[in-house]
Amino acid sequence: MTVTDMFRLDGKVVVVTGASSGLGVAFAEAFAQAGADVVLGARRADRLAETARLVEAAGRKALVVQTDVSDPDSCTNIVALAVEELGHVDVLVNNAGIGTAVPSTRETPEQFRGVVDVNLHGCYWMAQACGRVMEPGSSIINISSVLGITTAGLPQAAYAASKAGLLGLTRDLAQQWTGRKGIRVNAIAPGFFDTEMTEQYPPGYLESREDRIPMSRKGDPAELAAAAVFLASPAGGYITGQTLVVDGGMTIT
Ligand code: NAD
Repeated sequence: MTVTDMFRLDGKVVVVTGASSGLGVAFAEAFAQAGADVVLGARRADRLAETARLVEAAGRKALVVQTDVSDPDSCTNIVALAVEELGHVDVLVNNAGIGTAVPSTRETPEQFRGVVDVNLHGCYWMAQACGRVMEPGSSIINISSVLGITTAGLPQAAYAASKAGLLGLTRDLAQQWTGRKGIRVNAIAPGFFDTEMTEQYPPGYLESREDRIPMSRKGDPAELAAAAVFLASPAGGYITGQTLVVDGGMTIT
């Protein structure tokens, strides 16, 4: 196998959650370009049609399944349908997530729980469902955030706690499953990428953060998706339990 072959995922089946917008679309397209069929999960199934078209344009199969990751039964359902329709699940990209910025003295229990329910619990329900059916050689990638590692000026206790929790989850699932089941589990901590989530930031906020980024720019979703393909493929075959930070250097400042 040549070094470029090591980045291929031909014949693999990848599940991407939150695939109806933003980074999820980039992950789905990149995995299809690397040779994998892609199972697309999101609450807005109507919006998955466009992502499915991108996967099919890369010559791969797309399976669309309406999924709410905060519901454990919904997570079991997407994985069962993936196995039924495509035969196996080799990679999970736990990408679905929501972001809020609420001052902590005002944040309600419902607001805090709502974020943790999707960003942390949702990733666990999806990982459990996949961990039960994955064969040795499979891999899980949890999409955390630089806010799981540092702060960035907005009141984001729920989001930061959920994303830091995901790093602990990654370590523990890696120590439970890598040796026993042959499943590698890693996290990616993205910096700033333009998506629907970052559109919610106050005007000028993202630009004000760029001073802190040695590369002085936001990331391109294709740069993040390439990191995910690397981690999931044989090129990342000796990496487990790790967090790959893709942030233009932000967390070193
Ligand atoms: P986005 O809002 O465009 O995408 C999030 C996706 O998750 C949407 O498709 C949404 O419908 C889906 N989703 C939300 N709740 C869901 C649920 N309960 N069940 C299923 N799907 C659900 O934002 P994005 O920026 O593409 O975010 C993708 C991931 O990347 C998130 O986990 C986010 O925290 C993380 N992230 C993004 C950035 C960034 O700069 N954009 C930085 C760090 C981390």
